[in-house]
Amino acid sequence: MADRGCGHLNAINSVKQPEVRECVECVKIGAHWVHLRTCQQCGVTLCCDSSPNQHASKHAHASGHPVIASAQPGERWLYCYPDDAFTEY
Ligand SMILES: [Zn+2]
Ligand SMILES: [Zn+2]
Ligand SMILES: [Zn+2]
Repeated sequence: MADRGCGHLNAINSVKQPEVRECVECVKIGAHWVHLRTCQQCGVTLCCDSSPNQHASKHAHASGHPVIASAQPGERWLYCYPDDAFTEY
């Protein structure tokens, strides 16, 4: 397998796709979001850093889950927070 830039990304064999096209945390509080990201550890879909609440980032830091995938249709990339590593798949 090609080196994707860090061990977390290299460990991903199949990319988790979003089960829902909404940020589950924003829905709870009635907030809006810009783009969606799916945690590759637990599969939760949350909003990106361009969104007011940045739930994906908060989740990564609070839970220690390192890697997210874009949940935007047509986007195929992964990002690792602790290593600031990005790869397309
Ligand atoms: Zn990493
Ligand atoms: Zn959110
Ligand atoms: Zn997670």
